[in-house]
Amino acid sequence: METGDRTVLALDLGATQIRVAVVTPDGAVHSRRNVDTPIRDGPDAVVASCIRELQAVRAAWEARADGAQAEAIGISAPGPVDPSRGVILDPPNMGPRFRDVALAEPVAAALGLPTVLDRDTQVAALAEGAHGAARGCTDFLYLTVSSGIGGAIVSDGHLLRGPDGTAGELGHILVDRGGPPCGCGARGHLEAIAAGVALAARAREAVAGGAGGMLPGLLADRGAAFGAREVALADEAGDPVAGGILADARDAFAQACVSLVDTFNPTRIVVGGSLARNQGERWLQPARDRVARDAFRVPGQRVEILAAELGDDVGLVGGLELVRARLWT
Ligand SMILES: [Zn+2]
Repeated sequence: METGDRTVLALDLGATQIRVAVVTPDGAVHSRRNVDTPIRDGPDAVVASCIRELQAVRAAWEARADGAQAEAIGISAPGPVDPSRGVILDPPNMGPRFRDVALAEPVAAALGLPTVLDRDTQVAALAEGAHGAARGCTDFLYLTVSSGIGGAIVSDGHLLRGPDGTAGELGHILVDRGGPPCGCGARGHLEAIAAGVALAARAREAVAGGAGGMLPGLLADRGAAFGAREVALADEAGDPVAGGILADARDAFAQACVSLVDTFNPTRIVVGGSLARNQGERWLQPARDRVARDAFRVPGQRVEILAAELGDDVGLVGGLELVRARLWT
């Protein structure tokens, strides 16, 4: 059988959910399952849960008479990771016990299949490149804007990894020297201004500083659940304080896109993640305008800034492409 005709098991490990599925060579996702990630029970419980779900999805698939057997496993995991060893290093939102957790090896041993793992944004870029908004592109950037901001760089048809596999952390480019503190410990990074966690933090600061309008009521209502969604709702309803916070975020994102276009000369910048998805054109158009105004002329005219196409399945579809890139080439 040609390697292009093979089916894989895909695992998408996130801070809130473990998702698994079978992905056929056309990129179609079958027999999806998902469970809450048992972060509070520690890394061993998370690994055990991943293995259980993979075994369950394989059993369900093989019970179908027409299903080709899965021949490898592709894993999308929260970064940073060591892709060569299949180890999750120290992800910021998986709890303090989640350090240097080997995932690919126990999964491979339990399922008896070759297994590869990479950072979620790298896997998403492979998926969008093969089946989504960057189909046919050999040079593109992928950005995900949700509670944090992640990225990936595809150059000349290959993912840029760097010697440690950590390249492409585009959320941590500097957009405001001396700006607000970032989760990584530095200041003024894109993520510290334009990510969901940052929007909520700015709104809380504004309320603490005595800002009026809709934000104090929303914060009192939602309490600990107050987040970027509430800030965006207030912005859409015309609240000027929320409007200022969102305008700042869109501007920081637009400014970052100019730097990225000048640095990488991408054909496309594909933008995924829940915050960008909910904002839609309100998020993308300011970036296009800013690139047209400020980027180098030739790459600025070439680049298209587009919404990602694969939505919540991106980490699963990417599992297939990760296996193709790492095992079957
Ligand atoms: Zn940072």
